[in-house]
Amino acid sequence: MNGIWKWFTQDGDEASVLARMVGENFVAYRRQYIIAICALVVISGTTAFSAWLMGPVVEEVFLGGDLDAAYRLSAVVVAVFLVKGIMTYIQSVTLNRIGNNMVARFQRRIYAHLLSLGAGFFTGQHSATLVARINQNILAIREMLNVIVLAGARDLLSLIGLVGVMIYADPLMSAIIFLAGPIALYTIGRYARRVKTIARDEVHLNAQVTTRIQETAHGIQIVKAFTMEERMREGLEGLTKQVEGRANKIAQLVARTAPLMETLAGLSVAGVIAYGGWRVVNEGYSAGNLASFMTALLLAYEPAKRLARLKVAVERSFVNGRMLYELLDTPPEAADGGPSQGEGPELPLTAGEVVFDDVHFHYGQGDDDQPVIAGMSFIAEAGKTTALVGPSGGGKSTAVALLQRLYEPTSGAITIDGTDISSVSLMSLRSQIAFVSQSPILFQGTVRENLRFARPAASDSEIEAAARSAQAHDFITAMPQGYDTPLSENASNLSGGQRQRLSIARALVRNAPILVLDEATSALDNESEALVQKALESLMAGRTTLVVAHRLSTIANADKILVIDGGRVADEGRHGELLGKGGVYSKLHAIGLQ
Ligand code: ADP
Repeated sequence: MNGIWKWFTQDGDEASVLARMVGENFVAYRRQYIIAICALVVISGTTAFSAWLMGPVVEEVFLGGDLDAAYRLSAVVVAVFLVKGIMTYIQSVTLNRIGNNMVARFQRRIYAHLLSLGAGFFTGQHSATLVARINQNILAIREMLNVIVLAGARDLLSLIGLVGVMIYADPLMSAIIFLAGPIALYTIGRYARRVKTIARDEVHLNAQVTTRIQETAHGIQIVKAFTMEERMREGLEGLTKQVEGRANKIAQLVARTAPLMETLAGLSVAGVIAYGGWRVVNEGYSAGNLASFMTALLLAYEPAKRLARLKVAVERSFVNGRMLYELLDTPPEAADGGPSQGEGPELPLTAGEVVFDDVHFHYGQGDDDQPVIAGMSFIAEAGKTTALVGPSGGGKSTAVALLQRLYEPTSGAITIDGTDISSVSLMSLRSQIAFVSQSPILFQGTVRENLRFARPAASDSEIEAAARSAQAHDFITAMPQGYDTPLSENASNLSGGQRQRLSIARALVRNAPILVLDEATSALDNESEALVQKALESLMAGRTTLVVAHRLSTIANADKILVIDGGRVADEGRHGELLGKGGVYSKLHAIGLQ
């Protein structure tokens, strides 16, 4: 048994995937597995028994001419097949239930894990590729469960039963036939290794096909405007051809086991007929025994063939299983930084003063990566508005991302009311911060649901009040189902200004003492601009606000302006003071602060 396991999992790779999968799941489904295995044992017993029955049929009925025995034996056959039918039903339903539940659990687990990963993980991935890959991986796991548990266990047990009958009927002949085994196993092992390398390529290529289609659907306006259709079509054609080639190769490798197996089977059956026949004729060997042996051999052939092919067939699933575990093994957010989601103490917030103290940060992992934040220090006073301005690429968005601990500084500290944010739990830090991003991101669901994401406990009247302050109530109620109107993908049925006001309303629902605002650079028409401005004013009132500012009105009204250049604060002051000084700020102001 150990030898079979070793052969099946020759590279150690499969062994770990399979052992982990069984280890993680067996206990949860212990009862069901026991039921299924009992049913499988009965099924294989009935198969072996029906092979054995051929002995008495030949001996008593055909040779002995006993008609009573014929009736008796046919009644037994009916009973045997009835039992087999019922047990097959039980086994199939139980194992499929386990499989379906395991897939559902994997999906939930992977989603929960994705949510726990840091922002860095997602910037390094194409979203559609990630989705496509996970989908494929999960489908393959289901296949693996079906193939290994259902086919594998059933076939293995049947084979054991049938081999038992063969040995019982004729040990010597069985021994000769079993010599074929190692030849088959060796050849199949070689094919399986080749499938493995191709399978990983196939998953990646398939994911790229999905990505390409999703990107096209997403950016159809640009595709058409730049008449990119032909190039996109060609790109997809190349990818699909490669996927097709890989899939054909895998199919070919799986099928390549057939000629070998068929030849081996032919040789075995031919040998049994010749040698067994010779013994019956010349040595008076029992014809009944030969019949049992032959039937068992013929019945064993199909399961043996499937089992032999199993390794090649599931190699692809192993590759997918491994990819899923790679994802699940990616450490969650803040695993090597400060405390993560639920751990760590609460942030003790009194006034809401934010301080950056000599903060350094670079995105990449390598030491030679360019620093994006290089010794940034400032104080954002409680309840006041601090505007971050400066040339593009200066590090403004990165600074506010650091405040939300989307990334951890490489050195220096960020404190809120004197507490280092890296010492408190992510959950408690972020629950004190409302965020309005540059491009308003809205989710599938109704307007009300989108606003409630910010604070699930918010009442309907709080949500409406927030929408009113954000100048969104009127256009929401003008929609056919008001607050219960479902938003289309990316809320594309709303105008840019409306989307922005919804995202401001969402931040108002959050009702957090600290506000992080990344102002949109895209210009709105004057009327929308005025409404968004009003919405922002209600949002900023009384909160410590850090705003990456692009609007002149926001900057002019700010209590403090930080000029961010080259990852540090180049200058700070109020609008009038900075203008008076000349320098970067007046240059920026002269070119319109975009
Ligand atoms: P600003 O908001 O002032 O325009 P950013 O903070 O967006 O500046 O960017 C500062 C620098 O960091 C830029 O050089 C940019 O290319 C780089 N950068 C921003 N985001 C990432 C990221 N996710 N990964 C790697 N580099 C990034």
